[in-house]
Amino acid sequence: MHNDLYLNEAPKDGPAVFIVAGIHGNEPAGVLAATQLAEEITPGKGKLLILPRANVPAIEAERRYLPGEMDLNRVFPVEIPENPTEELAQEIYSLIQEHSLDVIIDLHESREFYSLDPNRVGQTIIFNEHPVARAIVQRLLEEINQMLPEREQFTCLFPTTEGSLTRAAAQEGLLTFIFETTKKLPLQNRIFQHKTLVILTLGYLGMLDKKCPKVKKFSG
Ligand SMILES: [Zn+2]
Repeated sequence: MHNDLYLNEAPKDGPAVFIVAGIHGNEPAGVLAATQLAEEITPGKGKLLILPRANVPAIEAERRYLPGEMDLNRVFPVEIPENPTEELAQEIYSLIQEHSLDVIIDLHESREFYSLDPNRVGQTIIFNEHPVARAIVQRLLEEINQMLPEREQFTCLFPTTEGSLTRAAAQEGLLTFIFETTKKLPLQNRIFQHKTLVILTLGYLGMLDKKCPKVKKFSG
């Protein structure tokens, strides 16, 4: 891949988790959070695969996707790629088999709070049916919402959109989540929220040992 892929494997067996951001190029918080997590997290168990900048040309253009291309998160799974968007999607999707992935966490951002506009998904955790998904989401909501003021609180939705990476992967049995922050909030808050949700999830999956990193609360 021309974009950076970070692989961090623990000597002990555990889940193989893929953290991806930048599938949409105009959602910087996830990109920055995933980049920082790639530097900061060493799993105690299992395997962590992080792709912070999934769609580099779109990120550089600060657009959801490039003009003339397709929305990358609407083309999964690809059978025979017929354009650059589908080629990139296939490249990303091939990581599932290549690394025997069990879990996908996809970081996104929305223009508006879901609580203010139900057509937007800001401050939500979106998941797909799986025996353990709902339990994890419940714990995530309880823990993250304790740290956040009323208007920044998360709620949950399901399933993820047809054509998305997470929806396609869920149909193959993977445990899949999308964390959506809102661009209405300051960037530092959004990065903090993404990182906290990822670290909590890795903790629930038993991948972090006791010296697991704590995310510093951003003040201001
Ligand atoms: Zn997005």
